[in-house]
Amino acid sequence: MIHGDGIGPEIMDATLRILDAIGAPFDWEAHKAGAAGVKELGDPLPRSTLDSIRRTGLALKGPLETPVGGGYRSSNVRLREEFRLYANVRPARTLIPGGRYENIDLVTVRENIEGMYVGFEHYIPIDGDPHAVAIGSGVNTRAGCRRIAEFAFEYAAKHGRKKVTIVHKANILKALTGVFLETAREVGSAFEGRVKTEDRIVDACAMQLVLNPWQFDVLLTTNLFGDILSDEIAGLVGGLGMAPGANIGDGIAIFEAVHGSAPDIAGKGIANPLALILASGMMLSHVGRHDLSERLHQAIDQTLNQDSIRTRDLGGTASTSDFAAALTRRLS
Ligand code: NAD
Repeated sequence: MIHGDGIGPEIMDATLRILDAIGAPFDWEAHKAGAAGVKELGDPLPRSTLDSIRRTGLALKGPLETPVGGGYRSSNVRLREEFRLYANVRPARTLIPGGRYENIDLVTVRENIEGMYVGFEHYIPIDGDPHAVAIGSGVNTRAGCRRIAEFAFEYAAKHGRKKVTIVHKANILKALTGVFLETAREVGSAFEGRVKTEDRIVDACAMQLVLNPWQFDVLLTTNLFGDILSDEIAGLVGGLGMAPGANIGDGIAIFEAVHGSAPDIAGKGIANPLALILASGMMLSHVGRHDLSERLHQAIDQTLNQDSIRTRDLGGTASTSDFAAALTRRLS
């Protein structure tokens, strides 16, 4: 378990309290990463953290701060690369009725280790300007595209989903996202009759998500597009405070909230812990405890909708610990 930076320790404490109340089958090893790793061990991804995850195959992670522009490379991206966590699964479901969008139930499956996030970037200095030209390259491999497409279609089939929409930009990035589209279509054809396949160009998809999100079911996309679209989709269900994510590889999985360390509200005790709590629900399902995950979801529904206990980002007045206390009461 990694508490994380910013609001990380606040929402992690709330989540651990909930997992305790529900009788979750986890023993915890606490480790550092991100800014806390740098501060305490001089490393944003200390070896002790990596060794622990390698040994247990499982982690619950708070958000990790990444310096913008310069500084060290994202510990999140490095964790995904280190453990080949190729699938990023981000479900979004309406938990509070009466909002702008009702009955949203979407899952984004994002390729997690290729694309524009490989970090092949550099500057070319000209005339004393060290940043005169910036160059970045993306990498998508046939094997990587096949692996994530198979994951998405198998996920859809297993979870009774009807359709996978492949989201790309193959009209412009013809090679980089062309290979993604081509390979995902090929994988989709093997699921014909079980899961429908369609595709969309990413910009049109972004607009259609706002106009009519109900037409989508599972969205399968590349690393950068998945990062952006899943935040947009989080907005359909009440914001980043409601969006959990799982990073899955072969034999190793890391669960986290989609949001970051929210430095603007850190230390104020007002962060919404729900995204990390929902991520811990995904972790319970991952280890086969669907019963506990189901119970957790019921208690969340009761806390939000019957007790009307909500944090400020959801229009309520509850603090992080008020919400955790109310949810604990429902669980017990
Ligand atoms: P952010 O997600 O931290 O915050 C965006 C906005 O959403 C802020 O106004 C914040 O207050 C609000 N918000 C986020 N989570 C919330 C919650 N649980 N409850 C209530 N409000 C919440 O995005 P950012 O400000 O762009 O990034 C801050 C830092 O987090 C950066 O260093 C970034 O690199 C890092 N980051 C980490 C992860 C991760 O660990 N997976 C993901 C995204 C960003």
